[in-house]
Amino acid sequence: MELLDGQLASRAIKDALAIQVAQLKTEGKKVPHLAAVLVGNNGASETYVGAKVKACAEIGYKSTLLRLESDISENRLLNIIEELNDDPDVDGILVQLPLPKHISDEKVINAIHPSKDVDGFHPENVGRMVQGLPTFVPATPYGIMLLLEHYKIDTRGKHAIVVGRSNIVGRPMSILLSGNTNPGNCTVTICHSHTHNLKELCLQGDIIVAALGKPEFVTASMVKKGAVIIDVGITRVPDASKKSGFALKGDVNFKEVAPLASYITPVPGGVGPMTIAALMKNTFRACKERNDS
Ligand code: NDP
Repeated sequence: MELLDGQLASRAIKDALAIQVAQLKTEGKKVPHLAAVLVGNNGASETYVGAKVKACAEIGYKSTLLRLESDISENRLLNIIEELNDDPDVDGILVQLPLPKHISDEKVINAIHPSKDVDGFHPENVGRMVQGLPTFVPATPYGIMLLLEHYKIDTRGKHAIVVGRSNIVGRPMSILLSGNTNPGNCTVTICHSHTHNLKELCLQGDIIVAALGKPEFVTASMVKKGAVIIDVGITRVPDASKKSGFALKGDVNFKEVAPLASYITPVPGGVGPMTIAALMKNTFRACKERNDS
């Protein structure tokens, strides 16, 4: 079994981006600028946004963090996005999800200009991804593709089982893995909460991407020997032994599954850092397109 080390792979990507940013500076061009919008004070969201802002600083990007009250009106938030769309210095906009219940995720996602939609959630960018056209690909599945590439994992012709069909992870993952690309060219089965015989399907998987948000759901009895295991799940479970009061659990029972796997991502330190590296790549791309236009 080999560990798919997301810390290591993301470091390599961020180092390469830092060199490109230094080059932009030498040429007197503007550096990438990511604007992150955080509504309310959800602990996990705070952590994710904090990690994204920190990554910007490491690479040499500019970042702006807009902290907004949880009772902000939908209209006010849409106006703020419009201002960011119109700000020529801002290359990428991300609105950390989930949003409070009184705000429509869909309206907010649709309000971000597609050229600044570095999360790749806008329908125009999703459409381009489905057609295999250059675009911003949602950061988590993009990060997983980069991780497979980094470890030179041959995915061609393999049967990939994706558990979860969210617009953020499972569905785009299934599209990317089935694309005529490398990595890619998989035969993909996408599963969800209505799937019958999930265990039998998982046992057929050469690659399993677990993205359902149920701690340690994938056990040894669901995994065939030699499978590549990608664990996307991050759930906070109470743990009195930790200073924070919680531990992070993946969707895979690592202890049981690791001995069977050919490759496996740890949680934390697997998909999480790759998500951030992918977002940084998208932000660089947004800046480059603006610099070149
Ligand atoms: P969602 O809750 O949006 O989607 C979960 C999906 O899993 C749904 O499609 C659901 O099916 C399916 N599902 C739930 N229970 C089962 C089950 N028993 N059997 C089969 N399928 C099931 O979650 P996300 O996609 O947003 O996130 C998934 C996990 O990944 C979470 O733990 C999240 O925290 C983590 N995550 C990690 C990231 C990272 O950077 N590492 C980034 C984003 C997410 P149905 O559609 O039928 O309801």
